[in-house]
Amino acid sequence: MITNPDRRLFLRGGRPLAIRPPWSLSEDDFVKRCNRCRDCCSHCPQGILAPDLLGFPRVNFSKGPCTFCGACAQHCTPQALVMDTAAPPWLHKAVFAKTCLNGQGIPCRTCGEQCDSNAIIFPPSPGGRILPQLVTADCTGCGACYAVCPVQAIDLLT
Ligand code: SF4
Ligand code: SF4
Ligand code: SF4
Repeated sequence: MITNPDRRLFLRGGRPLAIRPPWSLSEDDFVKRCNRCRDCCSHCPQGILAPDLLGFPRVNFSKGPCTFCGACAQHCTPQALVMDTAAPPWLHKAVFAKTCLNGQGIPCRTCGEQCDSNAIIFPPSPGGRILPQLVTADCTGCGACYAVCPVQAIDLLT
């Protein structure tokens, strides 16, 4: 699991793996259009957008979830972010690492309690350990589950 967001930038041959703001263009088109003005960062009421090491905005879910308010896209003059209410704002979903406390026999449902979409369920398993499972279709990728996990067992991936 990747726990340091900046580390993402250097994985996979230097391809940026940072999570871009919602409604961003594809990575190639995004970096062509984004002029690194940081207007999206300064207008995010959640304070979750900040420049990556190359100056392009990325989401830092350790600061909080995205509310999909649209302020970032509305202030993106070069249209590297294009809000389209008919399409999902992004495609990443929550994933759970094996370090989840439930896998160590320590009961925890913290992530599920934070998920307004009820996308995290804890079905009983034959072995008695109740691990979190994602209802993929219901996960918006908002990141509300990310920071609350006491063992950093959650990441947001496409
Ligand atoms: S949609 Fe709103 S909360 Fe989400 S990153 Fe953009 S400005 Fe921030
Ligand atoms: S990213 Fe948001 S919607 Fe998805 S499981 Fe986490 S809290 Fe729920
Ligand atoms: S918050 Fe973390 S440790 Fe707790 S159930 Fe969710 S993934 Fe597991």
